[in-house]
Amino acid sequence: MNIFRELPKFENAACIGLDTELFYEYDTQREKDYRALGIIRSICASCPDRNDCLEYALKHEREGIWGGLTPAERRAVNRARRKAEQDDYSRTAS
Ligand code: SF4
Repeated sequence: MNIFRELPKFENAACIGLDTELFYEYDTQREKDYRALGIIRSICASCPDRNDCLEYALKHEREGIWGGLTPAERRAVNRARRKAEQDDYSRTAS
């Protein structure tokens, strides 16, 4: 499976041509699979589309590794962003 071929936004993705099942087989049950995670992170770290990939995934993807982040890590980023937005709103409203 190579889902990125269908997403022209990621046409320079470092994972194009790779078996992206690896990015999905790594799931929350295997968070301690550090070797697989290290391999995936090193691929994402070299990816020219990493920022776009991560921003897309933060909005749309609950499974798999995108932009080098696991689902749990993306949830943490989204929580931190929501908190920052709430803090900004509270500051401007007071
Ligand atoms: S950041 Fe990682 S998952 Fe996203 S397109 Fe690049 S290599 Fe693929």
